[in-house]
Amino acid sequence: MAKTKQFKTESKRLLHLMTHSIYTQKEIFIRELISNASDAIDKRHFLSLTDSTIPPVAYEIWLTPDDSNRTLIIADNGIGFTEEELINNLGTIAESGSKAFLDKVEKEDVDLIGQFGVGFYSAFMVADKVIVETRSPFSSTGYRWSSTGEASYTIEEIEREAIGTTIILHLRADDEENEEDFSTYLKDYTLKSLVKKYSDYVRYPINMMVTRKEDKKEIEEKQTLNQMIPIWKKPKSEISDDDMNAFYKHQFNDYDAPLKVVHTSVEGMLTYTALLFIPEKAPYDFYSEKYEKGLQLYSKGVFIQDKNKDLLPDYFKFVKGLVDSSDISLNISRELLQQDRQVKKIAAHLEKKIKSELESMLQNEKEKYLKFYENYKTTLKYGIYESFGLNKEKLQDLILFKTNKSDDYISLKEYIENKPIDQNAIYYATGKSKESILKLPQMDVMKEKEIDVLLFTDDIDEFMIQVMQNYQDIPFKSIQQADTDLLDETKKEDLKSKEKENKDILKAIKKALKDKVKDVKLSYRLKESAVCLVSGEGISMEMEKILKQMPNTANVHADKILEINPDHELFQALKKIYEQDEKRIGDYSSILYHQALLIEGYPIEDPTEFSNQLVKLMIDSSKK
Ligand code: ADP
Repeated sequence: MAKTKQFKTESKRLLHLMTHSIYTQKEIFIRELISNASDAIDKRHFLSLTDSTIPPVAYEIWLTPDDSNRTLIIADNGIGFTEEELINNLGTIAESGSKAFLDKVEKEDVDLIGQFGVGFYSAFMVADKVIVETRSPFSSTGYRWSSTGEASYTIEEIEREAIGTTIILHLRADDEENEEDFSTYLKDYTLKSLVKKYSDYVRYPINMMVTRKEDKKEIEEKQTLNQMIPIWKKPKSEISDDDMNAFYKHQFNDYDAPLKVVHTSVEGMLTYTALLFIPEKAPYDFYSEKYEKGLQLYSKGVFIQDKNKDLLPDYFKFVKGLVDSSDISLNISRELLQQDRQVKKIAAHLEKKIKSELESMLQNEKEKYLKFYENYKTTLKYGIYESFGLNKEKLQDLILFKTNKSDDYISLKEYIENKPIDQNAIYYATGKSKESILKLPQMDVMKEKEIDVLLFTDDIDEFMIQVMQNYQDIPFKSIQQADTDLLDETKKEDLKSKEKENKDILKAIKKALKDKVKDVKLSYRLKESAVCLVSGEGISMEMEKILKQMPNTANVHADKILEINPDHELFQALKKIYEQDEKRIGDYSSILYHQALLIEGYPIEDPTEFSNQLVKLMIDSSKK
């Protein structure tokens, strides 16, 4: 008895897109179905290595065009489907990648279909009925799944001995209006050229019975349509950019060509070929916890593992690709990769390789590097941070910053090369954006002295620098931290005597602000501004802001120091107020403090109080 079931919502959306697509490159369904068949064989083969009840067989994929029934059959002797798998894999879209694709394609451009692995449902671009007959080694009977690509599908038990899957496509009627000739997919010539175009490197034979005339007799014979040479086994000179890009897009489900391709072969103590790609755009889930790093692992062209995590350090997790090594033997289970040591050695090589490729990209292809950097900078920075600086040497020259002087990114090396010899620090400032940093009162003196200041606008920046501490022995210094090292000796003395002179008023302000600030000081770093807040030692105010967004950080606290510009008119006014009526200094201090908070991008702690104080001040001043 056949059971009828409804497709899940996303499946319906994708099916709708397939059946109604006016997309011209419908032929890619061949690539998708053959690739599924090849994956299914990989899975069966892999099981055969560890499960003696599933012996290996001669793996094959078959194409069978049938003119009289107008069907194209694609068969494999791979792992097949259990009933549950039919429901889960063909009735729903499991992979969130496909969902992301759907969202993109529905919003933007149907033409993306051809560039993206859309999988099994692509069959409905050319077929108005699809039947899947299958048998898994884990079920005692076969199953038939069938659908016309609308809301529902049916599943029934069938008798079937052979393990594997047979997909029967009932090709649509030709559509003359749109010049679509679906019967072309029954022609030997078309099928041969499509296999060549899309599936030549599939590692299992893709066979078809072909007839040829010999001495006026028709001879039917089996022909293998693909060369079965994996693309990474071909000499580099024989691989066109188009081929490589197409391989990448398909193998790694991307609709953009990669930003960078690294194809490297090593022979000797360790023998392997690696094909590495840096995606043009970070994958949609790259910054989520779901993202899994890793490279595909092959042994002599045979697939072993989809995402081997050990082959890539976290800070290069954006790299996609594969490694094929004869040093990795197949008699292993996924969990017990005995070849740990080999993998580790390969990983160490690859890490060096990726690093040097990135460095040369920075040197020779700056534009490209900037594209890369915009996408992945956080990953690199986090790499320095998470290792307590252990990987600092490896990564520090890949990090770039914008500065107060220019919108161009510069490296730390460039900073050092450009700075005056007697400048003994690498200055930085933290804020939400370049604009807000440039407006910081503390920036005044840097502008005046024409000092380069690195702009830290990513949350991770300051955390990373805490870990790095210095670059080529030159320490990093925040311009938002209390410090007088930019002053010459006479100015320092001058400041000291001014602080002494104004001891009482400074004390009074500090008292008025209670535990809001750790100290109140005079400062020469301010030019136009009257006040600013700076951090004391320990964590900075910017770090406090970030940490406060995380759980269990109630105790996180940055020491704040209120700095007042002694040359500003406001300070003179304050002094006057203080002399006239000591009690009024309380409100004035509070307003000053809140102003400073605002400039630093902090919220006002008590807006009502702040507003009342301002109102009072305005009324007072109108009375005079
Ligand atoms: P994807 O291949 O991207 O996962 P598909 O829609 O093409 O998406 O296939 C969904 C799932 O169905 C596959 O992940 C696989 O588990 C299963 N599948 C597809 N084709 C076959 C096949 N020929 N044999 C066994 N399983 C298959």
